[in-house]
Amino acid sequence: MQTLTVATSARVEMIDITPDIVEAIRKENVSDGIVVVFVPHTTAAVTINENADPDVVRDILAETSKIVPFDDRYTHSEGNSAAHIKSCLVGPSLTLIVAGGRPVLGTWQAVYFCEFDGPRQRKVHVKSVAG
Ligand code: ZN
Repeated sequence: MQTLTVATSARVEMIDITPDIVEAIRKENVSDGIVVVFVPHTTAAVTINENADPDVVRDILAETSKIVPFDDRYTHSEGNSAAHIKSCLVGPSLTLIVAGGRPVLGTWQAVYFCEFDGPRQRKVHVKSVAG
């Protein structure tokens, strides 16, 4: 297993970690198989979306913050319930097909680490399995 470190710089942010996933697969010497990407945090997530137009990520972050507002009379005393809820909605892991040492993605797709309670130092576990 490889563990990536992701330093986030905003309260909510989506960071393209596709190159880091490719490097983690290379380090595990897997050319064909499966890769699991897992975020061990309750206020962050991982997803796949467009990396061509940065406005897409901006819109995703803006609209999810309307759906799940930062303040809404939550009961969780830590004050970050919105981040916990967004983490649940987006999810903690991805499973991708690996071919030729790379995750199989569509032309416009990238793997994004989603920060919902930053800025923080975060971890992403990556496990590649040949097959
Ligand atoms: Zn909390």
